[in-house]
Amino acid sequence: MKDKIVTGLANDGHIRIMAISSTQMVQEAKDRHDLWPTASAALGRLMSVSALLGAQLKNEDEVISVRIDGDGELGLMRVDAAKTGAVRGFVMNPHVMLVNDDKHLDVGKAVGKGTLSVSRNYGLKNEFTSSIELVSGEIGDDFAMYFTQSEQLPSVVSVGVLVNKDGNIDAAGALLIQMMPGHTESDINMAEYVVEHLKPISQMIQEKMTPEMIVTSLFNDTDVLAESAVEFKCHCNHDKMRETLKTLTVNDLTELAHEDDGATLECQYCNTHYHFDKKDLMDIIQEKKHVEDSQA
Ligand SMILES: [Zn+2]
Repeated sequence: MKDKIVTGLANDGHIRIMAISSTQMVQEAKDRHDLWPTASAALGRLMSVSALLGAQLKNEDEVISVRIDGDGELGLMRVDAAKTGAVRGFVMNPHVMLVNDDKHLDVGKAVGKGTLSVSRNYGLKNEFTSSIELVSGEIGDDFAMYFTQSEQLPSVVSVGVLVNKDGNIDAAGALLIQMMPGHTESDINMAEYVVEHLKPISQMIQEKMTPEMIVTSLFNDTDVLAESAVEFKCHCNHDKMRETLKTLTVNDLTELAHEDDGATLECQYCNTHYHFDKKDLMDIIQEKKHVEDSQA
């Protein structure tokens, strides 16, 4: 089953339901960053809900950037999710394995106390940032608070990542149920009833329920509005990394050029390594000198 997001509206448009299956996306994050189980669960949950926020964007060139600054073992986590379905992310310390007394992965403890921030970016412009204090660090609760506080939409978020014994991802997904403007008391009662009887989303995905099946199974009259693909995808490349190198001083670049193996830069989001050898570095130095000469 390919990862995807499905959006539906129920109860005369008063309740929005979004579901994502994200098993492959989280597996790719695990492989790229060598995530240990608790880190897989934490980053996987953050990527899954961020992808839903990305899918809510209006334009193809918009990106949602989400960060959790917690004081737990994981440290900073960052995720970018685009309208196109491209999602990338990293965690400062990928090697975290914490379980609670019930032998469940302890995401709340690994995240710790701190903040959840969401920014909407249009091209290079950072349009809007909104932050809340983390509720539990379990990520689902934290986003529910974010939607309720920052977007004024009472929301329930169910998100889960099942990690198997060998550390791979068995199932990952998220479900968002939101009360839309104009909702009534009876819409709230119905949503509460549905939420009380909800199975964990990761279990539904593991039982091979598709996002369409999940979205249409909860309320009686759900219209599916949109469906889109989602995947782990980073937009870094050799040229962009070269531009980053170009911001170094000629002295620093000369020093790098004298190292035996040149310079290697890594993209923090996808862990791709970009190598620049002596000749590449000398070319960059020449370009910089040329610019400086023409400015003099
Ligand atoms: Zn990258």
